[in-house]
This record gives sequence, C-alpha cells and structure tokens, in this order.
Amino acid sequence: MNTHQVLLIEDHTVYRQTIRQTLDSTGDYRCVDEFSNLEDALEAIDGGLVADLILLDLGLPSMGGIEGIGLLREKLPDSRVIILTAFTDRSKVFAALEAGAHGYVVKAGSPNRLLQTLNEVVGGGTPLDPQIAGMLLDTFQKLRPIPEDENLSRRETEILQLVARGLTKQQVGDQLGISLHSVSSYLRRAFDKLHVHSLPAAVSAAIRRGLLDFSEEER
Ligand code: CA
Repeated sequence: MNTHQVLLIEDHTVYRQTIRQTLDSTGDYRCVDEFSNLEDALEAIDGGLVADLILLDLGLPSMGGIEGIGLLREKLPDSRVIILTAFTDRSKVFAALEAGAHGYVVKAGSPNRLLQTLNEVVGGGTPLDPQIAGMLLDTFQKLRPIPEDENLSRRETEILQLVARGLTKQQVGDQLGISLHSVSSYLRRAFDKLHVHSLPAAVSAAIRRGLLDFSEEER
C-alpha cells in the first residue's frame, strides 16, 4: 500500500506533535511537513511541496482555516482537506462545510478516530464526525428550508440520510438490498442535484432545503 503524504497545519504545538507521531507510527501515513500557520504552508506549496491529505486547524493565527480551504484546494486540487476542529465554534464549522472540506475530525477524539477518518477519506469517503453531524442537524432543523425545484428522489433522500447517520455505502446497500454501485450512483446524483462535492456539504444543503428530515429520530 502507498504511504499517504500528509501536510499538517495546526498552531497548537503539542497537539501538532501528537498528530505527527500518530501518523508517522502507522506506516500508512507520513507527515511530509508541519506548519503553525497557513501563510508558511502556502509559501511552501508554492515552492513545490505536495501532499495527498491536508490536516487543517480551523482556528489559526492571522489567515484562518476557512479562508485557507479555498486557497489550498486551488493550489493542490488533488489533495483532500480534513478539518481539525475544537467543535465549540459552530459558525466556523458551518463556514467550513460550505467551503468544501472533505472531512472533519473533532480534536478531543482519540488518535484512532483520526486514523479512521483518514482511512475513510483516502477510501473516497467524506466522513462526518458524529458529533459534528449531530450539531449540524440540531442547528439546521431550526432554520427555514430554502425552496428548491431540484428535489431529491425518495431513494436519493433515503440513502443520503443513512450515509449521513454514519453508515458506509456498503452497509446502506446491504440494508436496502441494492448494490454498492447503485448506492454510489444515487449519491452522485444527489450531490449533482445539490451542487456539492462532499457528504458534509450535501447533508448541509439537503437539510437547509428541507429535503432531509431527521425529526422522526427524536422520540
Ligand atoms: Ca488553533
């Protein structure tokens, strides 16, 4: 298996070192470089630094992580950006969703959770940390849905809902009795209709448009 090159941007020194050690201990991931601010990271990228994965802290000095997502994706379009968040700052998490990050890791989580998230991302997934998903649903339920013509089909909604709850595509397929390939095509169509490229963005867009309803879950 290829070793995935990870670029780490986090201003908390101890946390940054912990992540680096976690990554480098796996053999599957290697931290190619680490920075405590975005400006230095962007400069290094301009100088030729590349990475498959970028772990990006949202709360950074000077240029913030939100602004950085767009720039990083522009400079390294093939890299996938995973947000490291302290979870307490709701508005930043929402802005990051809109900016198109590929995954979210809550900092209080275990190193295993971080690795699990990275594995899902390199496997083509766009994992939403369960804590973030819960916060998202909670908040978006309170907003008025935006009317939208491009309604998702019942199947697309059903699949989006199951994936948003944390099921893998395979598990969704098993549950609905359809192939993994079908699940992927339904999801791709749902993403197209919602004009998004990642699961977090799709869930956020669908809830805001009133296309996803999780209220039944609360008994
Ligand atoms: Ca920080």
